[in-house]
Amino acid sequence: MSKKWVYLFTEGNASMRDLLGGKGAGVAEMTRTGVPVPPGFTITTEACNEYYARGKQFPEGLWEQTLAALKVIEEQVGKKFGDPDNPLLVSVRSGARESMPGMMDTVLNLGLNKETLAGLARLTNNPRFAADAYRRFVQLFGKIVLGVDGEKFEHVMSEAKGRDRQDTDLTAEELMQIAETFKAIIKEDAGVDFPEDPYEQLRMAITAVFNSWMGRRAVDYRRVYKIPDTLGTGVNVQTMVFGNMGNDSATGVAFTRNPATGADELYGEYLVNAQGEDVVAGIRTPKPISKLREEMPEVYEQFSQIAKMLERHYKDVQDVEFTIERGKLWMLQTRNGKRTGMAAVKIAVDMVNEGLIDKRTALRRVQPEMLNQFLFPIVNPAAAEHATRLARGLAAGPGAAQGRIVLDPDEAAARSEQGERVILVRTETAPEDFHGMVASQAILTARGGLTSHAAVVARQLGKCCVCGCGDLEIDYKAGAVHVHGTDVILKDGDWITVDGHSGWVYAGQVETQEAEVIQVIRGQMKPEDSKLYGYFTTFLSWADEVRRLGVRANADTPTDARVARLFGAEGIGLCRTEHMFFEGDRIDAVREMIVADTPEDRRRALAKIEPLQQGDFEGIFEVMDGLPVTIRTLDPPLHEFLPHGDREIEELAHKMGIDVATLKAKIEGLREANPMLGFRGCRLGIEYPEITEMQARAIFHAAANCQARGIKVHPEIMIPLVGDVSELRMQGDIVRRVADEVMAETGQKIDYLLGTMIEVPRAALTADKIATIAEFFSFGTNDLTQMTFGMSRDDAGRFLPLYVERKLLKDDPFEVLDQEGVGQLVRMGVERGRSTRPDLKTGICGEHGGEPESVKFCHRVGLNYVSCSPYRVVIARLAAAQAVLEEQK
Ligand code: PEP
Ligand code: MG
Repeated sequence: MSKKWVYLFTEGNASMRDLLGGKGAGVAEMTRTGVPVPPGFTITTEACNEYYARGKQFPEGLWEQTLAALKVIEEQVGKKFGDPDNPLLVSVRSGARESMPGMMDTVLNLGLNKETLAGLARLTNNPRFAADAYRRFVQLFGKIVLGVDGEKFEHVMSEAKGRDRQDTDLTAEELMQIAETFKAIIKEDAGVDFPEDPYEQLRMAITAVFNSWMGRRAVDYRRVYKIPDTLGTGVNVQTMVFGNMGNDSATGVAFTRNPATGADELYGEYLVNAQGEDVVAGIRTPKPISKLREEMPEVYEQFSQIAKMLERHYKDVQDVEFTIERGKLWMLQTRNGKRTGMAAVKIAVDMVNEGLIDKRTALRRVQPEMLNQFLFPIVNPAAAEHATRLARGLAAGPGAAQGRIVLDPDEAAARSEQGERVILVRTETAPEDFHGMVASQAILTARGGLTSHAAVVARQLGKCCVCGCGDLEIDYKAGAVHVHGTDVILKDGDWITVDGHSGWVYAGQVETQEAEVIQVIRGQMKPEDSKLYGYFTTFLSWADEVRRLGVRANADTPTDARVARLFGAEGIGLCRTEHMFFEGDRIDAVREMIVADTPEDRRRALAKIEPLQQGDFEGIFEVMDGLPVTIRTLDPPLHEFLPHGDREIEELAHKMGIDVATLKAKIEGLREANPMLGFRGCRLGIEYPEITEMQARAIFHAAANCQARGIKVHPEIMIPLVGDVSELRMQGDIVRRVADEVMAETGQKIDYLLGTMIEVPRAALTADKIATIAEFFSFGTNDLTQMTFGMSRDDAGRFLPLYVERKLLKDDPFEVLDQEGVGQLVRMGVERGRSTRPDLKTGICGEHGGEPESVKFCHRVGLNYVSCSPYRVVIARLAAAQAVLEEQK
């Protein structure tokens, strides 16, 4: 006996997804639960695989089983396939385990030919309906099974309708004429006569579904999403029901809850007197589902009950398709509905409150990135549709913003002070542009990847940013931006809108919407006035109950620290002190320090910065109020603090009272061929120990002052870019000496840790030695990625997108941690470090600390915490909870 290839809907259920495909299992489950589903059967995914195994031949017994199943259906509905007097018509659809773009669409009304068409007309007493059904069948069969270009059919249809008529206005005669024209097109294009034999039609349609499994689009899709080819697709053959039998018939789609807002209401649309594909194709404007309550109250009542029942059954929002045939409701499909981030959280919380799901299920239902939608303004989707798209770059910083183009950071700061909304547009940004970036609504750069300066700073500020927008050519001199490949030239002062969610840059002011959660956090709205805020915090509190990984924030200022706490950060994992060097006039003292010839001169310059740094640290300790604060000693190359243009150099020389040549020589002396691998990180403190000394003093004095005021402090001092334990030992000695001095001087005992970043591969490899000195490790995966791949962070934006586009890499490794390579170093660092010091505290502070998959990896390798930009703290909280849930799967 041959294998069972065919299952009636009455024989399957939801658990048979692998065998029957998603659609097949869905309709079988609905049938089983008593929902009205037109009878049918599913050919299994195994049959599809066998078809390929046999060199594209039907498996033995498949056709016989198909005919047998058809007989059962005929009996159930009292019609016969191919019978001119009482014809059974069927639809044929593909259905793999996962719904998959590129798979075969639906063929409707299969079984029609000249004779059965006449029978259908008689039977329904509606020749027009029959002609329309025939026209659709020929069109779909021609397009989907025989591969004729669908445009050709559409063209005939629009010619026939003319300008003022709709498809429903075409007469039976016209529709028959159109069907004949379609057949002629098919003959010419596909070189075959349209098959008249219904069984032949069915065989061809099943074959077409099987073949579509290996179609190019489907294969490509599976490659990208790593879906194995061996899954195969099912084929669903189902009795036709007709939504186009008159004004008591309709077809539609609906969600059991609003997929945009999460509101508990039926949400969808339908078309009267139409068939399935008309709704999607937008031939006529459909009506909202609420209208059905007025037009067909009984059907509506039954429909809403079924919808609720399905939702309870599947314990999730359902996206259903239905048809009403002469007042009788039929359900054609059900599947879990896709939804926005806001809706996902609301629905998950509501369903827990309704007792439908537990909290853990709720936490699994929301993708961490979706939480972003609560925080940032978004481009109004309707407005975006009509807006002019200029160019697209990397979506680097969240939100959307409108502003006037400004190319110079000073100008940006000045104009924003006067209340102007500006967007800083640069080829790339550098630390000295910071003030201009802060002042801007958004940052747009032509060069640089996802960890370029612009992107890192923007995310830390929670600012919208699109970077690496290669189509923009920025001409600073002319004050203009040319959009490559077009004749568009944008001028300084022109309005643009930047969408940091999609990476699109639009011309002019495209409407945006401000996030409610942000208004609450800023104190512009009371928490109790925002339902959204309530859902958001409830949901996140559940994540906190589950997760074991700590979540901290990267923050350099008290303001950042405050925001981070409001988002639930449990400490600061990285305070980049160099950002404090750029504020206000401090840069002058920093420059004095750099050009100083002797350690004494340098100390004198540093003494000017020290009280200011101390003040910053006090501010941060105050906000963090007893939570740990990791402060990193100076990291960036010194040349970043000095100007490069002739005019700026002259101005600075004048201001500092030194001659231009001396300053130029100093700058020249600092020039590096590979700044990313040059004189930065602890290398600065090794050549100039007085810098480390000053910073340590500022930290401990700040700590002592706060403690004296009753504020608890836990500073963690972190040395960057260590590759050998000797570097850490040397810097650590300075820190510990200063700590002792300050404690002796103030009489305060300060509870602090000394640790290092692990961001040079050698540090990970020698972590056991490094842990003899370090009390904690923080993995700086930005640099670790750069040095493991040997790709400069500053330059990778030029070629990495191509790597991703050509699928050499699945993701940009500066965005998603490369677990296979860089991850090994992280794992090794943790293991080796803990072999020396079992209680070694470990965290991550590279950009990956806020990326969900990377956060889950950090959980798995046993880090104590992740640290990310304040606005990603909530994402990390959820990802950390999901990491625990995934362990329990
Ligand atoms: C890192 O390298 O991962 C890091 C956090 O340091 P920065 O980005 O400041 O180099
Ligand atoms: Mg680094």
